[in-house]
Amino acid sequence: MFFFDRLDLDRRFRLLRKEVEVRGVSEELRGWCFDSPPVEPPSRSVLFGVGELAMRYCQSMRDIYLKRVLNVKPPPTIKMARGIVLHAVNRESLSAVKRLLFSGEARSGSELVEDLLPLAKDVVDRAILEAERALFAKVSETEERQLRVEASAFYRFLIVQAAARIDQAISKYPHSDVDSIISVAVPPVVERKVDGSLIGLSRGLSVDIYTPFNAIADLKTGEIREFHPYAATGYALALEAEENIPVDFGFIIYVQIEPSRLVPSFRLKYFVIGDELRREFLEIRDETYEIVSVGRDPGKPAKCPDYCPYYSVCVRESVEAPRHK
Ligand code: SF4
Repeated sequence: MFFFDRLDLDRRFRLLRKEVEVRGVSEELRGWCFDSPPVEPPSRSVLFGVGELAMRYCQSMRDIYLKRVLNVKPPPTIKMARGIVLHAVNRESLSAVKRLLFSGEARSGSELVEDLLPLAKDVVDRAILEAERALFAKVSETEERQLRVEASAFYRFLIVQAAARIDQAISKYPHSDVDSIISVAVPPVVERKVDGSLIGLSRGLSVDIYTPFNAIADLKTGEIREFHPYAATGYALALEAEENIPVDFGFIIYVQIEPSRLVPSFRLKYFVIGDELRREFLEIRDETYEIVSVGRDPGKPAKCPDYCPYYSVCVRESVEAPRHK
């Protein structure tokens, strides 16, 4: 990401590496052990999305039952739309920067800014359309206005940061070709596709950001939740299974854009994808499989958080659970 402070990242990863050296990660919990328990999935005929498993709003896992057994989708909300829109803006801005540099049409940060900032409206239009298609719903006019302000601020911020990074790289390595400049200034791979089927996850997983630190970053656009590290854990296991390389670190980038402030703010959470997280994620996967294969309603937990996407569904009890033999 353009807005990471490289020195700060290096320091954080030094600490995390020490933690891995001390605690280690058990071999049996590496994704490449996909043919033996506990990583081996109970079945490879039902595959799950990482988000589906990782977003543990519901402690009893009734959300899985609603989605997979009763086929009830959570009602679309502006939070969901915001997530899709900001992810799309992130992906598109990085691709646009790379495309323009490779085409040779921009040879400096200032040229990049001049060429890409006028595209903000198009990028935001596409991102909103993508959200509406994914959610099968139109956003209201008020929501659209709000999303536009946020998405446009995020896009402009990313382009300006990219421009500064590109100029720094060119000025430090004046004789480098465009490929090297991009690799120095735009290091991460964004939306890296991974086939998670070896460990019971979907074939087309998309990792938000995969960095040269063997770390996975997940971009979040809402509040901080304690279950968020599960997503990076699922992606790490899937990547280990597919690539046979260790993925020891995860970080979550929380982006927040206040409409009154045009510059987004970020909070980063760093962690080792250690044994505990791996075990917990695999247990969730296995329990999910059981709920889906048996078709059992696990019932509500003691407390339903009002931010659960299914809150209106369960609380109004508009879903009739079918009888199971
Ligand atoms: S509303 Fe309650 S029972 Fe329903 S999915 Fe959410 S947490 Fe679970």
